[in-house]
Amino acid sequence: MNPARRVIHAKAAWIDGEELARDIAVVIESGVITDLIRTSDHLDSPTESCDLLLPGFINAHCHLEYSWLKGRMPRGDNHSFPQWLEAINSLKVDGGGEDYFPAMDRALEEMIIGGTTCVVNSYVDAESMEKLRVTPLRAVALEEVLHLRGDAESALSGALGRSDEDTAEGLLARGLNPHAPYTVNGPMRAALRAVLAQRPNLLTAWHLAETAGEVEMFESGTGELMEFFQRNHIPLPFDQAPRAHPADFMNHEGLWDRCDAVFHWNHPGPEGSSHFAAPRAVVHCPGTHAFFDRPPFPMKEILADGANVCLGTDSLASSDSLSMLEMIRLTGESFPFLTGGELVNMVTRNPARSRLIASSGAKLGTISVGAEADLVLFSHPTEVFDEPTLRQALLARVSQVSSVFVAGDHIL
Ligand SMILES: [Zn+2]
Repeated sequence: MNPARRVIHAKAAWIDGEELARDIAVVIESGVITDLIRTSDHLDSPTESCDLLLPGFINAHCHLEYSWLKGRMPRGDNHSFPQWLEAINSLKVDGGGEDYFPAMDRALEEMIIGGTTCVVNSYVDAESMEKLRVTPLRAVALEEVLHLRGDAESALSGALGRSDEDTAEGLLARGLNPHAPYTVNGPMRAALRAVLAQRPNLLTAWHLAETAGEVEMFESGTGELMEFFQRNHIPLPFDQAPRAHPADFMNHEGLWDRCDAVFHWNHPGPEGSSHFAAPRAVVHCPGTHAFFDRPPFPMKEILADGANVCLGTDSLASSDSLSMLEMIRLTGESFPFLTGGELVNMVTRNPARSRLIASSGAKLGTISVGAEADLVLFSHPTEVFDEPTLRQALLARVSQVSSVFVAGDHIL
């Protein structure tokens, strides 16, 4: 047998983002799925077998560099967000010390055990991106830019130097994560507009409408986030409160059309979420939602507007886990109306069709002929034969990831 050829037999598999197929063999050659065999007749001896086969999970929002902050941050309800910001700012002065890199190793291991094959990683420290690049995981690199660290234009031009259009080996794509409307001031916004006009393909993603305090800051110039800025003598992003939802503010500032993805989006604006239909994306981080004990995420309303909803972990500074299987479980438990297929698609097909991934040309997030062979194999004690049993299998704590493949290679 061709050593580059693998045949994975699955009792059940989620095919092409829409069909739960039973008793199916997936043929892999040179890292790509080349055939799907629907019956067990005429099968080569499978090289692997599993109870359930899913596309590799895509973590659509993470900051790997904050892994060392696990267990060191204040948690609680939404009102403690400014305290969380103060804590992270003061802990970052220490910088993680000797645990900085080992913590990232542990985090990457947890990701892979939880079925992750691709990570959209926001970073300030380029070394954390290097750490991710030497793993077998696929990655999208989003460099964070904030006006809070000195001169806006030099910060942006430095980021762009590193975010050039030609992607380095091991990266699917590069782009910018202007952190949030409250950390990007007027000069930085002007510099961003100029850069985006010059670079029609530059990816951008923002943390947006994460807390009620952020919305209040923009709508009325009051509230806990506003007080946090004033208390800590942090430069404000505006001279006068714009009296608009942060999304409307971005629109007025000429940055909305180029916003490819938003992280959190817990408080959608009056215009709703239709802006984030594919190939844009809304990234919900259920671990962070639980960490802060936030009010329910408006999943139903956002989906009803046609938004392309994906899941992410955010960082271990505001989530107890970087496992995407755990993110599926948290989401499924919070939203009983989501089907098994919808839950899988939120970590596979949906992020794959966002510009963050799709702009690379890589065919990820699907089990179909021609797709990259990024796969998660599960062992599960009971039969999976339809979407309800798929949902049960995902949420059951007895189901286990038994193997993970990237480009047809075992990474677990
Ligand atoms: Zn984040």
